[in-house]
Amino acid sequence: MKTPEEYIDSLRKLNLKVYMFGKRIENVVDNPIIRPSLNAVAMTYSMALKPEYADIMTATSHLTGKKISRFTHIHQSVDDLIKKSKMGRLMGNRTGCCFQRCVGMDALNALSIVTYDIDARHGTAYNKRFLKYLEYIQDNDLVCDGAMTDPKGDRSLPPHKQDDPDLYLRVVEERKDGIVVRGAKAHQTGAVNSHEVIVMPTITMREEDRDYAISFAVPSDTGGITYIIGRQASDTRKLERGKMDQGNISFGGHEALMVFDDVFVPWDRVFMYREYEFSGRLVEQFSSYHRQSYACKVGVGDVLIGAVQTISEYNGTDKASHVKDKIVEMNHLNETLYCGCIACAAEGHRENSGTYSVDALLSNVHKQNVTRFPYEIARLAQDVAGGLVVTLPSEDDFHSEETGRWLKKYFAGKGTFSAENRMRIFRLIENLTLGTAAVGYLTESMHGAGSPQAQRIMISRLVNMKEKQSYAKKLCGIKDDE
Ligand code: SF4
Ligand code: FE
Repeated sequence: MKTPEEYIDSLRKLNLKVYMFGKRIENVVDNPIIRPSLNAVAMTYSMALKPEYADIMTATSHLTGKKISRFTHIHQSVDDLIKKSKMGRLMGNRTGCCFQRCVGMDALNALSIVTYDIDARHGTAYNKRFLKYLEYIQDNDLVCDGAMTDPKGDRSLPPHKQDDPDLYLRVVEERKDGIVVRGAKAHQTGAVNSHEVIVMPTITMREEDRDYAISFAVPSDTGGITYIIGRQASDTRKLERGKMDQGNISFGGHEALMVFDDVFVPWDRVFMYREYEFSGRLVEQFSSYHRQSYACKVGVGDVLIGAVQTISEYNGTDKASHVKDKIVEMNHLNETLYCGCIACAAEGHRENSGTYSVDALLSNVHKQNVTRFPYEIARLAQDVAGGLVVTLPSEDDFHSEETGRWLKKYFAGKGTFSAENRMRIFRLIENLTLGTAAVGYLTESMHGAGSPQAQRIMISRLVNMKEKQSYAKKLCGIKDDE
């Protein structure tokens, strides 16, 4: 396994084509806007090396028997699935943001299942190829970006009917040694902190869309790939001298648009090629895993709840019964989320490939809750914290000779609680509910791993309605409505 330092060094060796604010970023690793997101991924490496977290953060490779990061592991049991959920919460606690590495883990696990199933149907050899690739990932402890979401253009039309055929990523040329692909993937979490990109289709494809039914992996600095970093609320605070106004002073996330401008992929890195009837299976398998991964939001919720308890103590409101009750409500919602990500793991099962999968109904229910509860937790956080979350002057004003003394005097908290500590915790609450971390805690909770409607469709498909009806009918004596 890599140390965090080795991880950061390995990123320095990449030659990524990254743009932000209209300019190419030459030194991605040390860029102050990107760096906090890299720090969050680096934390996955440092946590894996701590003996006290070894059970959660590491696993034994089923391929080589070596100790590996759980982020590169293929789940071999229900216990592995449960530990994955616990790892998400733990990492959320330590970073207070999206730590980005779960997408690749979910892509690897989904492909371990679906490549096997394609081979069983078509006599292909994708699974063997995939396992060779997996061994490379595990041995080198790499970060993989799981790239699923296409830009999609007119959402009412399938890929082949779009005015611009590149709005979904597709194969444009087949060569003896591989394929050439063109298109883009949007909202790519942690894209420029990754060594590898694993591409998957974004929707169920029909026969006319078979050129879009492809899955493959490429090194992240492959020629023809361009990254354009997304803006986040208050992102340029990271360029400021002081750190206090960032709220979370070390960690953050980033997303990017990833453009594939005729990128070559050798055959040994192609894991699905025009088997359109398996595209939906791959999307659903990945989504089920990634909806479980939103255990991360429980961990970030812990941070927000801790911040709210702290500010209520600083404000002198912690004994008020309505404040106590609101914090109980926040915990209730957050632990309800935890129930969901543990339950879908505990109800997991073995797939034909040997990989363990979560219960898809429960992981979709979990993610549906994630589209709602963090918003309510954030609302309660702002309620309890008070208006200073948004009216607080800057760190420079706090340190200024002219204004600092006023801020220290008038923003001092109860008793000996200092104005500075009070400001820090306000900024953290601002960061989590309005600033850069709200990308991960709120909007990503809404749309990441699929928007709410995607889960509702899955829930309606996966519940056994006939069985429920039979219970009801039996109990009230209905026998003859068939
Ligand atoms: Fe992982 Fe959560 Fe970030 Fe998705 S949103 S990559 S599950 S930390
Ligand atoms: Fe996500």
